[in-house]
Amino acid sequence: MTNVLEVEDLRVNYGKVEALKGLTITVGDGETVSLLGNNGAGKSTTVSTISGVVRPVSGRITAFGEDITHAKPWDLVERGIVQVPEGRRIFSRLTVHENLQIGGYAVKDGKKIDERIAEVYDLLPRLAERRNQQGGTLSGGEQQMLAIGRAMIAAPRLLMLDEPSMGLAPLMVAQVMDVVRSINERGTAVLLIEQNARSALKVASRGYVLDSGVVSIEGSAEELSQDPRVVEAYLGK
Ligand code: ATP
Repeated sequence: MTNVLEVEDLRVNYGKVEALKGLTITVGDGETVSLLGNNGAGKSTTVSTISGVVRPVSGRITAFGEDITHAKPWDLVERGIVQVPEGRRIFSRLTVHENLQIGGYAVKDGKKIDERIAEVYDLLPRLAERRNQQGGTLSGGEQQMLAIGRAMIAAPRLLMLDEPSMGLAPLMVAQVMDVVRSINERGTAVLLIEQNARSALKVASRGYVLDSGVVSIEGSAEELSQDPRVVEAYLGK
């Protein structure tokens, strides 16, 4: 299996705060990999650094065999590396359809954008029903679906989701995870950041637990689900 993403010994500081202290993770072709960890462990920093928003102090990031350590965010979108940010950040005054069109900002061919919007409506029929509704009037779960749909317009080869389950009711969390599974089955590799380990490990094939900026535990989803440290800290009884 070739790797879509390789992060090697990544160090990131915010002033004196060492957010990542030598992080090493990989995402293989076709995989869904989960990054677990408590508040402040460095999960969002990892995604922001891969996306080119935050600059690392040292380390190397390789995607599809090319060094992207110092690539710019828009360049990464063109390479197929797209993130769904924490907190969704959809445009509340714009309609569902307009929000999806914005996801195509890096796509020059208007026909392609329309095709991809149609694919997103096929994947997420609930968005199709609400295509003329303002983003801000959607439920939290629907807004999360819209944020995911908007990212899909860029046709990602690697999709990174930052805590998509945050603030959602359990039923909605399950639906969002089903969507993540479908996206992966359609051929997109996924890096899934989650505090909700139980849900994430149902979708992911492999995972890493982050603790204070480094990987403390790694393994298959099954190994992690049975690891006493993971059970105690993240899964409960
Ligand atoms: P959460 O789930 O709360 O988002 P996280 O695992 O994603 O947590 P990060 O947001 O990556 O963690 O934060 C890692 C560390 O870096 C924390 O100690 C945090 O306080 C610090 N940090 C994050 N962003 C900044 C910033 N812009 N300026 C200073 N410190 C920051």
